[in-house]
Amino acid sequence: MIRSSVLRLSAAALAGAAAVAVGAEARQTSAPPQTPAIHARASRRLVIKNAMVIYGNAKPPYGPMDILVENGRIADIAAASDASSLRTSADAVIDAAGKYVMPGIVNAHMHWHEERQRGIPQPIQYERNLYLAAGVTTAREVGGDFDKSKRWQAESDAHTIVAPRILVYPFVSKGRTGAPAEIRAWIRDIRQRGADGLKIIGMDRDQLEAIMDEAHKLGMRTATHIAVEETTAKDYAELGVNSIEHFYGVGDAALDGIQDFPPEMNYANEIHRFGRAGELYAQTDPERLHKIIDLMVAKHVVWDPTFSIYEASRDLIRAKNLPWFRDYLHPSLEEYFKASTENHGSYFFGWTSNQEAKWRRQYRIWMDAVREFANKGGMVTTGDDAGYIYSMYGFGISRELELQEEAGFHPLEVIEHATWNGARLIGMEDRLGKVREGFVADLLVVNGNPLENLRLLNPYGTDVMLLNGRPASNYSPIGPGDHVQNVHGGGIEWTIKDGIPYHVPTLMREVKDMVAKARATRRPATTAGHQ
Ligand SMILES: [Zn+2]
Repeated sequence: MIRSSVLRLSAAALAGAAAVAVGAEARQTSAPPQTPAIHARASRRLVIKNAMVIYGNAKPPYGPMDILVENGRIADIAAASDASSLRTSADAVIDAAGKYVMPGIVNAHMHWHEERQRGIPQPIQYERNLYLAAGVTTAREVGGDFDKSKRWQAESDAHTIVAPRILVYPFVSKGRTGAPAEIRAWIRDIRQRGADGLKIIGMDRDQLEAIMDEAHKLGMRTATHIAVEETTAKDYAELGVNSIEHFYGVGDAALDGIQDFPPEMNYANEIHRFGRAGELYAQTDPERLHKIIDLMVAKHVVWDPTFSIYEASRDLIRAKNLPWFRDYLHPSLEEYFKASTENHGSYFFGWTSNQEAKWRRQYRIWMDAVREFANKGGMVTTGDDAGYIYSMYGFGISRELELQEEAGFHPLEVIEHATWNGARLIGMEDRLGKVREGFVADLLVVNGNPLENLRLLNPYGTDVMLLNGRPASNYSPIGPGDHVQNVHGGGIEWTIKDGIPYHVPTLMREVKDMVAKARATRRPATTAGHQ
């Protein structure tokens, strides 16, 4: 019984999927995608019909369902039916037959950039479009231009700009002298000016005690990038930090003593810094690593590993040759990524196989540590930290999901990290992170089933197998006479934020246009430079 109903459902899903086999990229090479009338417009009653639902908390998907969105909220979810009153009363409809609907993604670690390479402006809409196209409906900015980000936050909340919802966590300033009293005064001031939380980087123990005490008094959340310093994850966990970003600090707390740096080590030199960082986890003591993980779990610290931002260190050739660079890489980023002693994260001068091998080993131990942390009850989130190290906005978060799958998580768990865990991290679990009645309508309509292939969430799309013209699992039996094709498909079709649907092929076409325009205006200058 169960088996036959599963077969019936998947047959229905496949029939619907035939129409959506060709994703954003492929369509652009033929005819430019039409922008549907409902793009970027609020409607009174929006219905998403025939959707398979991925709820957000790792329970299995179910459907097909009709979802009613009213005044930006999920008002009703009912079994899909042509006769339902949901459909007849709708003033806008998205047909999700053969598609999956999941909550919008919380990018827990990002930065807004209006310029990367100095002197080459990068329109802020470029980054906004890319994040929405990758399904990011909420962006936690952990360090940026505070006043600008607060303005963009208000504009995003009012829907006067096309952008994800924004949370602003400024870098904690050490003030003029770094005295704890100065730091406390700075925190009180930034709280008054509307900081949603704090980003901590590089602190001594007395400074950290002051920051955490002040943050707790004011009810502010905290995220930290622990550098190599006197404080490690042990100090941060003991003092009650909310989230640890990246990998630093955790590995450092699990060493016998300190990392074995060579005498010529210069921490101000990024080649030294990122090269040696890749040796950290191989030097950890496994028993000590279990212990610090236990402490982080006991203290309810969230781990936001940002696997994708360091990936170039383990595979530079891959990182430099990503297929979406051709049409979507802005010249400001392109220039910034090149080896440079000026630009943060552009440390690839003569990068060696030896360094990559060490980074690959580091990833294996680090990923196992994150998996162990989650198995013991720790909460993992997803962030991309893009705009550095060959990682592009949006594509980075999509890759982060793939790397969390590589770390051993089930795709349902990975999506939970990206949605429900993200909502809990930022304290919005009463309204975000689940496809639930009463929750904010932050929803993604995905071309296909992301549980089969997380790469379907990539704004560029991915390879899809067609069997006799219809998308099919590549494990499907192929008989004589069957017609098998590999086509470009997938992608998110709609990113819905606060009930407003954004058409992803349209967002990506706009990005492509911005890049083409920026390249065209740069070309004469480049030619002159070569003469
Ligand atoms: Zn960052």
